[in-house]
Amino acid sequence: MGIYMKRLLFIFLFFITTVMGNMANAVLPGLEFSLHKNSPENIEHANSGPTLLVIGGIQGDEPGGFTAASLLVTHYKITAGQVWVVPNLNFESIIKRSRGVYGDMNRKFSKLKQTDPEFETVQKIKQIITSPDVDIILNLHDGSGFYNEQYIDALHNPQRWGQSLIIDQAKIEIADIETSGSGRIKTESTPFSHLEKLGRDVIALVNTSIPQTLHQYRLKNTHTAKGDKEMEKTLTYFAINHAKPAFGIEASKNFLTHKRAYYHLLVLEAFMNKTGIKFERKFNLAEADIKKAMYDKLQLAFYDKKIFLDVANARKRLNYVPLKKNADIDYIAGNPLLAVVSKNNRFNVRYGNRNLTSLKPSYFEYDNSLEDIKISVDGNIRRISLGSMVDVQQEFNVHAIAGYRVNVIGFTRKGVRDESNLTIKLKNIRSRYSVDRQSRIFRVEIYQGKKYCGMILVRFNKLKQTT
Ligand SMILES: [Zn+2]
Repeated sequence: MGIYMKRLLFIFLFFITTVMGNMANAVLPGLEFSLHKNSPENIEHANSGPTLLVIGGIQGDEPGGFTAASLLVTHYKITAGQVWVVPNLNFESIIKRSRGVYGDMNRKFSKLKQTDPEFETVQKIKQIITSPDVDIILNLHDGSGFYNEQYIDALHNPQRWGQSLIIDQAKIEIADIETSGSGRIKTESTPFSHLEKLGRDVIALVNTSIPQTLHQYRLKNTHTAKGDKEMEKTLTYFAINHAKPAFGIEASKNFLTHKRAYYHLLVLEAFMNKTGIKFERKFNLAEADIKKAMYDKLQLAFYDKKIFLDVANARKRLNYVPLKKNADIDYIAGNPLLAVVSKNNRFNVRYGNRNLTSLKPSYFEYDNSLEDIKISVDGNIRRISLGSMVDVQQEFNVHAIAGYRVNVIGFTRKGVRDESNLTIKLKNIRSRYSVDRQSRIFRVEIYQGKKYCGMILVRFNKLKQTT
């Protein structure tokens, strides 16, 4: 198992525990936020730096922030210190492309009625924020225009938020910290409490990578304690009142999503550099590479991998998807921004604010008697687990299994019901039955009588010849 697969598995396991653990939530089941602890396996390395908590998607219509946070989960390896990521805090609003389905979540951190649908969510993130492990918190936003201390024009002025680092006050003072039952929290135990100094250091580093002066980051101090009633209700103000250094990070809404994510990652990496967290990144930090990384690997497994789909490049509609009869939809997402939502007898696969594909189900009873199949791939015999993808250059041939029937979706041969023991090339399959828009990925499904046993994906590595 490669490192990437291990990481995916880790995400899978985390989803199982977080999703299952929170069924009582008022938020739509399956759309609770997830916490991903990205830390070195070696505990000494984990303890050799601070723990940074990064939060994305507190408002559902700010994709730059939640995309950057998600990439931190899927494409970064932390080698010193720890990074905890909640990439999808307001997941239901993200999936529904709304700022806040139940109102603005970032105004719910001072007072909140127990009847509020997001009460449990806010309680849960407050617990994570105040966890003794967490040393510093970054809350990612996409803000309008470009913040500037001076009024330059309608887009660049003190009322705007984009391209800024927000602090509530210059320093966390001992008097700001609420006393709890256990007594007063000591500031000595709070590193990075000089918010303005750290903020300015980060900005100086970030701006060396931003040649356009008007796109450079600036520090915005909201002086919340001096009577900013709106900012008093925010996540960061809650955090600093619990002795947790916290910053709001804003990328400008005037940029496309991948560019906003680029700026967020520049800032995140600068924070890691300045606080002693070390990392490795699996892509080049440039806009085009971020766009690619966002669609690298978007995988969904339904019913314990009985159905396995790579939806990064999926067709708009996938038909005859063999879902389980008389059962609730049950899936594991390989990316924290992926979700499957039921709509008009179909299931839409959402990735953040976007719709990737829509699944039209055919319902089957399931059979669990088969784990893997034998297949010849370009002349080599291999055993492939159901629920995985196999790469093919020229041709494949699924070996017959007594008592089972093979169905290669998009392939037909007159008078043949069981499509095993046939050598099949790309040109033998009708391209519109592919999973992906490039017509390279096809489903091979196994049945026993009327029961569905599972599937694999075959991916042809050459594009179909149009002769
Ligand atoms: Zn925001």
